[in-house]
Amino acid sequence: MPGEQITRLVFFFGVLTIIAVWEVIAPRRQLTDNKGRRWLTNLSLVVIDTAVVRFFLPVLPVGMALMAQQQGWGILNIITLPPWIKLILAIVALDFVIYLQHVLFHFLPILWRLHRMHHTDLDIDVTTGNRFHPIEIAISLWIKVAAVALIGPPAFTVVIFEVVLNASSQFNHGNIRIPVSIDRWLRLVMVTPDMHRVHHSVIPRETNSNFGFNLPWWDYMYGTYRPQPELGHTGMIIGFKEFRDPAMLTLPRLLIQPFIRKSV
Ligand SMILES: [Zn+2]
Ligand SMILES: [Zn+2]
Repeated sequence: MPGEQITRLVFFFGVLTIIAVWEVIAPRRQLTDNKGRRWLTNLSLVVIDTAVVRFFLPVLPVGMALMAQQQGWGILNIITLPPWIKLILAIVALDFVIYLQHVLFHFLPILWRLHRMHHTDLDIDVTTGNRFHPIEIAISLWIKVAAVALIGPPAFTVVIFEVVLNASSQFNHGNIRIPVSIDRWLRLVMVTPDMHRVHHSVIPRETNSNFGFNLPWWDYMYGTYRPQPELGHTGMIIGFKEFRDPAMLTLPRLLIQPFIRKSV
């Protein structure tokens, strides 16, 4: 689509810059690991993931949306509704798919092996929102392609959804301080950093909660919501207990991590 790549790039770097500055001005926690090394690792993964997507995936969700529109596939392509209602329905439906996918990545052992890399970051900040194994990214895109074929959203909706998903992922991983009173209101409509941080706790019952990335409603509806970490935001330990040695968390080791049992 015209202007698609530039839109994605502007939002990616724009949100990254804003949250990174916010983290310096008003951090929520003190970082424990080497920030430079973590940033290099997490941002290198963005480059690798983008390359994998470009070179190894024949159809992307936007391409599938255009194809579905031409062929008349998908629920929204066979019913008549005003475009803004289609936009809302498509975004809510795609967000629900992302929530279900995240739950699946936690509870199916073979998928957890891929997703746990996201949880091995020893700190959580804006770059953690981009820390995903390339195979997880590929599987996640295939799931989205299938969801798009079924739902039939307009192509521009898919671009908006993906841009918003990346922006909110960077925002809700931010190590940023938001007043509790504002956070309480924000949580009614979006996943806040305090809400998603619970998901990065080393305590398994906290890791297996707050799966939402954009909308918080699925966690409220399906009983996977935990308002705060038991040890508080400054006392909680971030990461995954079986991979805590920074020497085992370098980029090459992260890429082979799905294929090894544990590092300690
Ligand atoms: Zn997770
Ligand atoms: Zn996360």
